[in-house]
Amino acid sequence: MTFTTRFAPSPTGPLHLGHAFSALLGFDLAQAEGGTFLLRIDDLDQSRARPEWEAQIKDDLTWLGLSWPEPCRKQSECHAEYEAALDRLWQMGLLYPCRCTRRDIREALSAPQEGAPIEGPDGLVYPGTCRAERAAWVGRGRPTNRTLRLDMAGALERIGVTDTRPLRFETFMQDLNDAPQNPEKSREEILSGIGDVVLARRDAGAAYHLAVVVDDAAQAVTHVIRGADLHDATFIHTILQDLLGLSRPRYLHHRLIRDAAGKRLAKRDDARAIATYRDQGLSPQELRAMIGL
Ligand code: GLU
Repeated sequence: MTFTTRFAPSPTGPLHLGHAFSALLGFDLAQAEGGTFLLRIDDLDQSRARPEWEAQIKDDLTWLGLSWPEPCRKQSECHAEYEAALDRLWQMGLLYPCRCTRRDIREALSAPQEGAPIEGPDGLVYPGTCRAERAAWVGRGRPTNRTLRLDMAGALERIGVTDTRPLRFETFMQDLNDAPQNPEKSREEILSGIGDVVLARRDAGAAYHLAVVVDDAAQAVTHVIRGADLHDATFIHTILQDLLGLSRPRYLHHRLIRDAAGKRLAKRDDARAIATYRDQGLSPQELRAMIGL
């Protein structure tokens, strides 16, 4: 079996124990399978990415015993590829410009007929305010400085997902011999629980969901290993892979490493940063043991 996996941190803060878990799991599996472990720098958000953090990430991973082929792919160097993918989706008539601010969305969702707002993998499920303007854009070029949303109903129709023909993605287990469970969502579940996600941001270009799909395909990633917090985002990624005619990797969404209070670790939790444990004199083996590897 070909096995190519990647660890794709954003250089916006120190790596913590959750990152160490993801990276080590990917590296160990790639080693066991005679496959490839890639490091990708997800520096799409240039307002927050810092070269110091990129250097620290590489230093921490090297200390953990990991290695990867250099140079690494960096999202900040791949804008042309993301723009080409956006163009294709625009030409399919599946994107529309959206001028809503977060506040507009919250206000629209507080209307009595809307019911309780639903938080999906791309934030609050969009109430569709700007969808009506779609017709005015037919036949026009793609605006490059506007927020663009995916017309999810149109996208699902295009890839043949219906209420009786749900969308599935393939998973794999930490023990590759274990039978995977392949999660599914129906058309209705995707429309109500995910909705018209943002694929390009005004002034910032491609959004994460679009970039990650283009990156994984460009790097021929066969196995994606990442935290359970991204489980539902994988439905979005699967839809984009099908629309763009890209092959689908298999996914492993691992448990999240939590702090003593059960809270998910965030980049700002410096106390759990790998660097903090290094400074305290912990060995890479002791750190592995701490996270159950
Ligand atoms: N840069 C993303 C993150 O750190 C990558 C997520 C992914 O693995 O797709 O959350």
